Amino acid sequence: MNYETVIGLEVHAQLTTRTKIFCGCSTEFGRTPNSQTCPVCLGLPGALPVLNRKAVEFAIRTGLATNCRIAPRSIFARKNYFYPDLPKGYQISQYELPVCEHGWLDIDLGDGQSKRIGITRAHMEEDAGKLIHGETPETAGSSLVDLNRACTPLLEIVSEPDMRSADEAIAYLKKLHQIVVYLGVCDGNLEEGSFRCDANVSVRPFGQKEFGTRAELKNINSFRFIRQAIEYEVERQIDLIESGGKVIQETRLFDSGTGMTRSMRGKEEAHDYRYFPDPDLVPLVISPAWIEEVRATLPELPDAKRHRFVEELGLPAYDAEVLAADRNLADYFDACVTLAKDAKSCANWVMGEVLRKLKETDTEVVAAPVTPELLSGLLARIADNTISGKIAKTVFEQMWLSGETADQIIQAQGLKQVTDTGAIEGLVDQVIAAHPEQVAEYLSGKDKLIGFFVGKVMQASQGKANPGMVNQLLKKKLQG
Ligand code: ADP
Ligand code: MG
Ligand code: ZN
Repeated sequence: MNYETVIGLEVHAQLTTRTKIFCGCSTEFGRTPNSQTCPVCLGLPGALPVLNRKAVEFAIRTGLATNCRIAPRSIFARKNYFYPDLPKGYQISQYELPVCEHGWLDIDLGDGQSKRIGITRAHMEEDAGKLIHGETPETAGSSLVDLNRACTPLLEIVSEPDMRSADEAIAYLKKLHQIVVYLGVCDGNLEEGSFRCDANVSVRPFGQKEFGTRAELKNINSFRFIRQAIEYEVERQIDLIESGGKVIQETRLFDSGTGMTRSMRGKEEAHDYRYFPDPDLVPLVISPAWIEEVRATLPELPDAKRHRFVEELGLPAYDAEVLAADRNLADYFDACVTLAKDAKSCANWVMGEVLRKLKETDTEVVAAPVTPELLSGLLARIADNTISGKIAKTVFEQMWLSGETADQIIQAQGLKQVTDTGAIEGLVDQVIAAHPEQVAEYLSGKDKLIGFFVGKVMQASQGKANPGMVNQLLKKKLQG
């Protein structure tokens, strides 16, 4: 039988506020365990939570960017469960009235096709602490609790079960990731856990209306693992059904070592959590004015950027995709175009030399020693034929090291292109005289040898002769 895969994703994005969601403790990552705690996030009796306004603003930003409706009034609820990393015995979350609902994202399926994935809701909640399981000789066999992460703000973004393959799930996830990073509300670090994804996966025979029973896969901390986890799980469920078994609703842990998922616990139901409104927090009221204020500060989002790069700047879709993928890179490119005008040559240089150099030197684009100003200075010298594109690459290399302008380097090293006919003619004559055999072959019809002669003349000029002129003069003289 043929089966269809059904996937819904739950993403936890850690919001990049400086302080926690219900107290003033710092959210900085990697500090001494329990050094960033207070009575509120330690869950001491009598301590009262106060909502962080910035966290709400970030939730609104994300909601608007994912086409959600922002609730004018939402409620914080207690989700009750026991675990050692949760000192209060409940997590403050949102349940019946979340801050964002009814959103969507369009994902690109390749060959110009797109598909709309529904976003059911996005709600704010606090993170739990971390358990560290005996890593040193003194602590072996015991577990330690670090509450630095307890009470850091999360936005849980829940999709509709609209995805039908691992590819679609990855496309959705990448898109959402790009958006939260663009918005500056999440640092997007999957490995450090600031962008976490649980995948709900089920299968059903093609044509069947009802969904199959889902398994929820946890612990997937890279885009690559998403595919592995989903594909493994789909196969497992199909095998199970084909052999007469039944998929049970459960939470499964993905093991990146084996690429398999294994059962962790039976899936809890909402009523197990005894949700109820948190009496310590007043309802969250968001005025239309606040929403509009936040909307006005939204940056141009990746889709809009890509569209502009194609429609207004005339870039190929591929270039637009690469350049818009990262907001800082897009800003760098935009700055270059403003200065140098020729968008396609800017795109070529940014996607070619600049990206290569950034990667090679492990540098962030905002710290690139060749700034848009410097790069456009170099492009101007190519455009006015002072140097060839080839020499420009070595000039670029030196600009990167020294931070000097293209003009300084061209001047100091005498790299200015030779466009003086007399000088090039001299070299052309020399090369023709030195290769009588090739000249004879060329004249007998082997036109392709022109490349050989051009190469020799360029070599003799140390790359400085204007290649167009060399070509022209050679053809003239060879016929000659
Ligand atoms: P829970 O907290 O119990 O996981 P949520 O409603 O928060 O429940 O999330 C459920 C997620 O599972 C959503 O992303 C939803 O799209 C997805 N989902 C629901 N039913 C199915 C199904 N049959 N197959 C795949 N995904 C599903
Ligand atoms: Mg879930
Ligand atoms: Zn605190």
